[in-house]
Amino acid sequence: MNTVSFADLKLAPQILRALTESGYTTPTPVQAQAIPVVLEGHDLMAGAQTGTGKTAAFALPMLQKLLPHASSSTSPAKHPVRALILVPTRELAIQVEESVKTYAKHTNLRSLVVFGGVDIKTQTPHLKTGVEILVATPGRLLDHIEQKTVQLNLVQMLVLDEADRMLDMGFMPALKRILALLPRQRQSLMFSATFSNEIKKLSEDFMNYPTLIEVARSNASAENITQKVYLVDHADKHQLLAQLLRGDDAKQAIVFTKTKLTASRLAKQLQREGVSADAIHGDKSQLERMQALDAFKQGKIAVLIATDVAARGLDIDSLPMVINYEIPHAAEDYVHRIGRTGRAGASGTAISLVSPEEEKYLADIEKLIKTQIPKERADLPEHAAKPLRAPRAEHSERSREHHAPAPKKPSHDPWFDKPYEPSASAPAPVKKPAEPSANKPKAQIPALFVRRSS
Ligand code: AMP
Repeated sequence: MNTVSFADLKLAPQILRALTESGYTTPTPVQAQAIPVVLEGHDLMAGAQTGTGKTAAFALPMLQKLLPHASSSTSPAKHPVRALILVPTRELAIQVEESVKTYAKHTNLRSLVVFGGVDIKTQTPHLKTGVEILVATPGRLLDHIEQKTVQLNLVQMLVLDEADRMLDMGFMPALKRILALLPRQRQSLMFSATFSNEIKKLSEDFMNYPTLIEVARSNASAENITQKVYLVDHADKHQLLAQLLRGDDAKQAIVFTKTKLTASRLAKQLQREGVSADAIHGDKSQLERMQALDAFKQGKIAVLIATDVAARGLDIDSLPMVINYEIPHAAEDYVHRIGRTGRAGASGTAISLVSPEEEKYLADIEKLIKTQIPKERADLPEHAAKPLRAPRAEHSERSREHHAPAPKKPSHDPWFDKPYEPSASAPAPVKKPAEPSANKPKAQIPALFVRRSS
């Protein structure tokens, strides 16, 4: 039990005030451990996944250390970049900078976020007015460096947030170029959900005897998240998903897909079926992604369908459910995905729909998180079993898109007209039209997921 208070951590009154206004009462474990280390000036390597409060763990001591430089002057010269926070995606960049701004609101410290995908010219005037804290994605920062619209010679603190993801996304060369431009005398902090050998190597290269903290076992998934796997044929996934989304527990959910194509297609299918859904992925403009995210945050849409890259940095309070429509092939992505629920101590549910072709990836995930996820075979009622499109083995998404018949909604879909309500005593209607998986044991969808009859 963590009994330290923010005041115990010797944070300045103006920072404490912002925390109180944000409703934070107690530091999370990563905050309780990281804040003193950073205030003492040590480099830090922290194993903390998203949802643990890691942003405040670096942002709060950063603000405290920059306070002596806070200036009410309007002169840009009085506001050089003193802290640089590098993050892998635009969404995370926006999220982190919003947090920094919130915690800094009673100080004269300024922050700014820059990321790609938007006109660089719109960012330059803001940079020119001077900011102490710059949050950036690596590519866009390099653009600004090349255009000489940013100076990094006074950077005294560097944060690499979600460093594992930055490496996964191929940012290593960009990071090396940026690191070479920073003063050698600086404090460096690195946050990563997982500690691969590559991450350890990166920390050796750019950090100075870092203090290592780990709030949860690295590569472990959060304990307050109930995980569950439904073993289901690929062709039945859509029906099962729709059923899960109509369950009482799924007031709002993020649904993960492996590809942009599946995300778009699923969003359209669900919309046609009356589920308020939208997709975010790399082919959508930044504006479209932000609009979808805002609509989701405001509760205007119930289901956000996302690919891994687009979902990084999403911070949505009290999201109850994450559904993996397709499980990721990189096991670490599973940890990131389910970290979207159960944030800051809340409980959450993470459900994965796993087809026979995906079971090998599930085994990798279970090995990584050192946990056997409870499994259940999903059987859909007979009238729901008719696939919306021809079932086929999961090959490449693209080949399916080209060769499969266009997804069609049946003119009369009895499943959506007639509620299916399995009871504990009644056997589940399991007889299905002939399909590849002949030896499926019979199991009912638990009552939790019974469709609401309206
Ligand atoms: P993060 O892991 O930084 O993405 O934070 C996850 C969520 O926890 C965010 O919504 C934060 O606003 C929230 N949070 C961070 N620290 C605290 C705290 N000490 N008390 C309550 N909520 C917090």
